[in-house]
Parts: sequence; C-alpha cells; structure tokens
Amino acid sequence: MSYDVLVIGGGPAGLSAAVNVRARGRSVLVVSNPLEENPLWKSERVDNYLGLPGLSGREMLETMRRHAEKAGAEFRDGRVVSALPSGGQWYVGIGSDMEHASALILAAGVARGKKFPGEAEFLGRGVSYCATCDGMLYRGRSVAVVGDTPTAKREAEFLQGIGCTVTYFHRPRHCEIRGGAQVEEITCDGVTQAVDGVFLLRPAMAPTDLFPGLEMEGGYVKTDRRMATNLPGLFAAGDCTGGPLQVSKAAGEGLTAGQSAAAYASEASRKARTT
Ligand SMILES: Cc1cc2nc3c(=O)[nH]c(=O)nc-3n(C[C@H](O)[C@H](O)[C@H](O)COP(=O)(O)OP(=O)(O)OC[C@H]3O[C@@H](n4cnc5c(N)ncnc54)[C@H](O)[C@@H]3O)c2cc1C
Repeated sequence: MSYDVLVIGGGPAGLSAAVNVRARGRSVLVVSNPLEENPLWKSERVDNYLGLPGLSGREMLETMRRHAEKAGAEFRDGRVVSALPSGGQWYVGIGSDMEHASALILAAGVARGKKFPGEAEFLGRGVSYCATCDGMLYRGRSVAVVGDTPTAKREAEFLQGIGCTVTYFHRPRHCEIRGGAQVEEITCDGVTQAVDGVFLLRPAMAPTDLFPGLEMEGGYVKTDRRMATNLPGLFAAGDCTGGPLQVSKAAGEGLTAGQSAAAYASEASRKARTT
C-alpha cells in the first residue's frame, strides 16, 4: 500500500509527527521496533514534560501511542533496513518487505555504540544488517549473529531454520571482523569463529547507513527550521537531529516534521494530478 508519509521510529518524535500528519488529513504509517524496546520505556519517572509530570516512561509512551492510533495513524512493528527514492516515492525496506510513501520522517532516536573494526569495510561483502533480507545468501553456511535486541534472537532462529550454522554473540563489548575479498572470521570478546557472514542486528542504524548522502552536523542529522534534510522528501525529528535529547524537544520537532511532510505529500499529489 502507498502512504502519504512514512515515519521511521515510534518514539515521542515519530508519534507526534504521525498525529500531526493525520491532523492535515494525510495517511501515515509508523514503522518501529516494538514500543517496549524504546529507550524511554525503562525510565521510572519523567518529571519535565509540560503538564504531565510524574509519568513513567512506559506510561508516557503508551499514552502517546494511543493518541496516534486514535488520530488514525497506522503502525507496523519492524526494523527499517533500507530506503531508496525512485519516481517521486520513497521505497522503504522493512525486513524482507517493502512499503512506499511520498515523504519520509526519520525519527529513529540516536544510534548508540560505535561501529566495529571491519564493519564498514565488509558491508555487502559478508556483513549485513538484516537476516530476513540477506539470510538466503548464506543458506547452509556458517554465520555469526551479533545481537542486542530481543528480535535479534528471532532473526538468529530464522537463519537456523534455513540451514545456517549460527554462532550467536549476545551484546558483546568488542568485536572485530576480518577477511580478504569476503568476511572470513569474527572475534567477539576474545572468542574467534570462522564464518561466511556476519549479521549485526542493532536496534538502530546510523542515519548515513540508511540514507547515503544525508548531510550531518556534529554527528546528528542536519535539518532546516521545517525539519527538512538535504534529501528531497526526507524530514527528521527528535534525538537524531541533536540535543537537548529530551521528550519535549522530540515532540515539538515531530509536530514541525509532520506538518512539513504532510505539505510535501500534498504538493506531490497535486503535481501528479496536473501532469
Ligand atoms: C533511561 C532514560 C531516561 C530518560 N529520561 C528523560 C526525562 O526524564 N525527560 C526527558 O525529557 N527525556 C528523557 N530521556 C530522553 C528521551 O527518552 C528521548 O529524548 C526521547 O525518547 C527521544 O525521542 P525520539 O522519538 O527522538 O527517539 P526514541 O524515543 O529513541 O525513539 C526512536 C525509536 O525508533 C526506533 N528505531 C530506530 N531505528 C529504527 C529502524 N531502523 N527501524 C525501526 N525502528 C527504529 C527505536 O528503536 C526507537 O523505538 C530519557 C532517556 C532514557 C534512556
């Protein structure tokens, strides 16, 4: 199905964006890791959100999510692993599935943790961020899964199910990936394993891995006051655009990004009707 706007990330920024896209009468799909994997979920008490002091992170996220559902936003659990513009639409890979929309809002929070040595070098030559997309290439072969989310375990089971021999590294502190033309081995926390493929299943990807050519500033996505990035039809909001890394700022930027993306989608459909 085609949407006017697709939002990547279902935290405060993404949910606020979704509410405000719906307020402009446009369709919106929010694609996100499960709510309970959001970093705020574990917070015992949030005291500085205006008008609603004292909620736990979980209560706050559930309240915001209900608001967006009531406004008519659609939701899909999943990890966005690719996004490509083509013919005035953005095509977004969610595991091995695809959705498309006129405008995108990146509201994916901050990608915590540094890249491992060898990760960038072997990306596409044995290193992958998505087991359900690339798993078949490694059928019957030996792979490592480096995971730090509950869904990573399920992706490791999927690889086992298609006949891969899987070595699972749960939240290692340090890994190094080595090889020649392709990946040949991985060492995590002192354990070395010969492998043909390495699946790095983190909850969030660096914005520039998802959007090659995306302009950054000080490690964060660069936007203008409309929350537009340098890529046409891509807006960004929340922690991914920089500090203060706080809920109020995320919700406020989500509002602006939602309105801007809705206006962009309206203009795109007006142009499509007149050509
Ligand atoms: C323990 C803790 C306590 C905090 N306490 C406070 C507080 O008291 N007050 C305050 O104002 N702020 C607090 N914060 C900060 C607050 O949580 C963040 O500023 C806020 O959640 C940012 O919202 P966001 O929507 O930008 O990003 P996030 O809330 O991080 O949401 C982004 C979502 O996108 C998902 N995602 C990322 N990449 C992808 C992808 N490729 N595909 C699908 N989904 C993806 C992530 O899993 C996540 O669920 C706290 C944070 C933590 C961790």
